[in-house]
Amino acid sequence: MGDRPLLNRRLDGFGTTIFAEMSALAVKTGAINLGQGFPDTDGPEVVREAAVRALRDGRGNQYPPGPGVPELRTAVAEHQQRFYRLAFDPDTEVLVTAGATEAIAATMLALLEPGDEVIAFEPYYDSYAATIAMAGAHRVPLTLRAPDFRPDLDTLRDAITDRTRLLLLNSPHNPTGMVLTRDELTAIAELAVERDLIVVTDEVYEHLVFDGEHIPLISLPGMRDRTVSISSSGKTFSFTGWKVGWITAAGPLIAAIRTAKQFLTYVSAGPFQYAIAEALRLPDSYFTDFRASLAAKREILSDGLIAAGFEVYRPQGTYFITTDVAKLGEQDALAFCRSLPERCGVVAVPNSVFYDDREAGRSQVRFAFCKRTDVVEEAIRRLSQLRK
Ligand SMILES: *Cc1c(COP(=O)(O)O)cnc(C)c1O
Repeated sequence: MGDRPLLNRRLDGFGTTIFAEMSALAVKTGAINLGQGFPDTDGPEVVREAAVRALRDGRGNQYPPGPGVPELRTAVAEHQQRFYRLAFDPDTEVLVTAGATEAIAATMLALLEPGDEVIAFEPYYDSYAATIAMAGAHRVPLTLRAPDFRPDLDTLRDAITDRTRLLLLNSPHNPTGMVLTRDELTAIAELAVERDLIVVTDEVYEHLVFDGEHIPLISLPGMRDRTVSISSSGKTFSFTGWKVGWITAAGPLIAAIRTAKQFLTYVSAGPFQYAIAEALRLPDSYFTDFRASLAAKREILSDGLIAAGFEVYRPQGTYFITTDVAKLGEQDALAFCRSLPERCGVVAVPNSVFYDDREAGRSQVRFAFCKRTDVVEEAIRRLSQLRK
């Protein structure tokens, strides 16, 4: 095969995701995994039972419709109405995807031309950089800086060029826990209208806002026809393995994205789609209890990390806490995370790898608190040894 590298140049440097590396390290060392953001307890029993029923009743065992089963598309539309007073046509304005991951990939592949620029917050979720690259487009980072990680809107304005096609936003933001305010969203919406940009919003943590509220950008003036809202059941219902996600957007955007999506997976997760339709209709108490239980864990982990000598950036949302390890005498987050399992039996993730501006996140480390309380407490006990 000659000297030509097997991996195409667009994916050069993407290698193995840090989550895979750190989760493998957790398995190998038996460490507590506060790295990858998956819960260690499954979601509601009624939702699992709904999946079993769908399987047994033969619903979704064969190719479901490409855009998703009507029951789920209707449930997504109802959810947007119930929580945000937003109306979507389930037939033309909702698209079911293999998690938010496929939604992001299909959106980038459908909407970008080679050479287009995409402005995204950094530190970014790792699939953003990869899918922008697959589309042959260029990412332009808007750096969120400690301690509060607010986006600098003047910098955003300056970053927009004639080649900018879209903004890719994530709020609540993984890994920093930043939640965009109404004022920030309003300023972003005004810029998008003025510069005629599409905005893609990753809202997978929409139900995990502890301070403030989640406001979908698509609800703001001028945004209904230029916003692609992405969400997923994985984080909200603690079934990250089912990979049921969705997009809500205006018909022409959905039609364009569906064109790419049909050649990625075509469809996925047949029976699980029926189960998530039921999950989306759970009473308000499910959503408030879920948030309250994670809010309590946010307190436990924040307090524990502070006591262990970390600088803690208190998240407003998500189930992650970003810390700085410089106070512990550590300068390099990646080296710190690679040594942590051996040193004290805990796995975390270095935020530095999610920045182009490596300096900005050099000593930042992320911990997940979507774990059982006793697991979080044991991790804190282990981390407290670092002080010695
Ligand atoms: C987990 C996560 C995703 C991926 O969601 P899936 O539904 O599992 O594909 C996307 N974006 C962010 C910010 C996430 O944290």
